Amino acid sequence: MTELTEPQLEPVPDDWQRALAVVAHPDDLEYGCAAAVAGWTDAGKDVTYLLATRGEAGIDTIDPGECGPLREREQRASAAVVGVGAVEFLDHRDGVVEYGTALRRDIAAAIRRHRPDLVVTLNHRDTWGPAVGGAWNSPDHRAVGRAALDAAGDAGNRWIFPELLTEQGLQPWNGVRWVAIAGSSTPTHAVDATAGLERSVQSLLQHRSYIEVLTDKDPEAYCREFLVGNAEAVAPRFGGVPAVAFELLAR
Ligand SMILES: [Zn+2]
Repeated sequence: MTELTEPQLEPVPDDWQRALAVVAHPDDLEYGCAAAVAGWTDAGKDVTYLLATRGEAGIDTIDPGECGPLREREQRASAAVVGVGAVEFLDHRDGVVEYGTALRRDIAAAIRRHRPDLVVTLNHRDTWGPAVGGAWNSPDHRAVGRAALDAAGDAGNRWIFPELLTEQGLQPWNGVRWVAIAGSSTPTHAVDATAGLERSVQSLLQHRSYIEVLTDKDPEAYCREFLVGNAEAVAPRFGGVPAVAFELLAR
């Protein structure tokens, strides 16, 4: 009898030291890949979070002036749960982030400052799930994901954004070896989520003000169901191990 097995994902390489995770909003990394981040920081790797916005337009009932600082606090608490102490914000406007050279330059500057081996970002494509029949992705996710992919190259070229060197003293950094895209519908690699899974639940739970307006469920039960479900859904493609899937682009 033939045993049917799904095509297997490769392990994300672990011969690196520094990662920069670049996303649009508070909670993007917690919904996507905090369990992987917990595993990386457990292994002594340095992970920095870079957010294009403060998510100030994310909660209908809270004015942006109040919401931005609230979501920043929640994001910093979320990061701390998985061992990330450095969280930076680019202060692009939530909901109307524009893909373009201003965003690429801001991300390239951060890449030059932090000199990561690995850049992590979130699904930059038009849809979640299949290209046809999937759910439409947010314009901010598309803009930031694409700009992060581009900036991984921009950061290494001294003639693109030369003002980063002349005005900010940021030397080119051509050391990004991979960009890992969380939430991709065409993943190629994965990270074992076992050790970090419970902390990823606690990390997402820190976004309490957002989650409480999103669902009537108990917030912790909601977070656990979502993240454990996602990790277990990857397991058949990763040796039966609950995991976080990424599409990995080598550079
Ligand atoms: Zn988002």
